Amino acid sequence: MPGSVPSRVSRRNLFQIAAGVTAGRARGLAQPSPSGAATLERLERAQGDPNRRILLRGGVVLSLDPKVGDFEKADVLVEGKKISALGPNLDAGRSALIVDAFDHIVMPGFVDTHHHQYETLLRSILSDGNLGLTADSPTNYLSTIQGILTPAYRPEDSYISELVASLNQINAGVTTTVDTSQVSHTPAHTDACIAGLKESGRRAVFAYSSGQGPASQFPQDLTRLSRQYFSSRDQLLTLALHTGLNADHWKLARSLGAAIVMHFINGDLQAMKNAGLLGPDTEYIHCTQINEAAWRLIADSGGHVSIAPAIEMQMRHGMPPIQAALDHAIRPSLSVDVECNMTADMFSIMRSAFTLQRALVNQRALAGEKNLPRLLTCRDVLEMATVEGARTAHLDAKIGTLTPGKEADILMLAIDRINVFPMNNVPGTIVTLMDTSNVENVFIAGRVMKWQGKLVGVDLRRIRETIERASDGVLARARYSRKLFESCCA
Ligand SMILES: [Zn+2]
Repeated sequence: MPGSVPSRVSRRNLFQIAAGVTAGRARGLAQPSPSGAATLERLERAQGDPNRRILLRGGVVLSLDPKVGDFEKADVLVEGKKISALGPNLDAGRSALIVDAFDHIVMPGFVDTHHHQYETLLRSILSDGNLGLTADSPTNYLSTIQGILTPAYRPEDSYISELVASLNQINAGVTTTVDTSQVSHTPAHTDACIAGLKESGRRAVFAYSSGQGPASQFPQDLTRLSRQYFSSRDQLLTLALHTGLNADHWKLARSLGAAIVMHFINGDLQAMKNAGLLGPDTEYIHCTQINEAAWRLIADSGGHVSIAPAIEMQMRHGMPPIQAALDHAIRPSLSVDVECNMTADMFSIMRSAFTLQRALVNQRALAGEKNLPRLLTCRDVLEMATVEGARTAHLDAKIGTLTPGKEADILMLAIDRINVFPMNNVPGTIVTLMDTSNVENVFIAGRVMKWQGKLVGVDLRRIRETIERASDGVLARARYSRKLFESCCA
């Protein structure tokens, strides 16, 4: 960013800088709203107009599209739900609402490619726990979350968990998720999941998953879901089937145009290959213990990989295979997985991926090894958290980069904060310094979802009461007591 220092200083004179915090606050308070300036009220009023124009003016623009490039100072024009132009000094016409993007990084929303959102009412209940592939504690994910707590869910518990998970991630700048909620005990549970996703206003792939009990209609209910909720492609929610290595299930998904999502810690893809069923519409989650043949089949078939680095390290899935994926020319996407064990914010997940790949390569360098893989850069990790996520979710034609013609899923990240200034490198600022407190404004398909640091139109007290009640109910029906201070799994 040559030249960024002069432009930064030129905004205020030295006296104002010396006057410090007070001058800065006074400046903010004194600013009137010019006629075209966007206020929340004006943005919301314009929401129903498909031709509304919003100009994000004068931000540091990180498009993550190499054909578009990055700009120290540029504008992004949003028309209706799409980005229509991007570049310096755009003329938006007199009707545009102007959002002052000065002191912000403007970038695409993050994409989380695997998230069991229904578990949000179980947040941190298993934070010291393992997956349970090896039995070191009777309390683990498989025994406790899947075995004891999930069966106690009612539809309304799924609904509120989906809503809170979605709103929390909008707040954190994660504008899209692939929701893998294994709670479809009945069609009513499935409908409740979809209702929660819809109410949040967020973009998501609903990866219809199995439930438990005799009333489960998995997977054949996919046909109803496809007709009832997903008949249009031009909407925020799209459909996938979350299943295992099951040829009939894969054929069912494809007959309905639904993508395939699969947890794949270990296993063999050869039978699916022989049946001619491997394809680019499939997402493979974790891949922590798969063999060379499986890697080659994923790569050759154009499959996509989702790595949940923090969870995989924490819960004994195996080593997050960031380097293994890259060695097979697969650029992985990143995912959150489960909030019963870990945060859903992408800054934490990006830092997990970034530091782990580098730690492993750095250790080999210190041991004297030559011809090592390239160290991940902050830009690499940002691409995994955005455009690679969009590819994995089969949404890259719509989102993942700031490209004119794509839908406007946009973050404005504040750089006037104590945790990031002075800014000397843009990807580095985001990946190594920022957290959710820097997420100032969030747009999804051109609609304002978070404004000046606050979620729009969300009654936090109501949703908190609802999810706390739901959490108490699930635990009571499961006869499971939360331990506030002791480890779940000591
Ligand atoms: Zn998972």
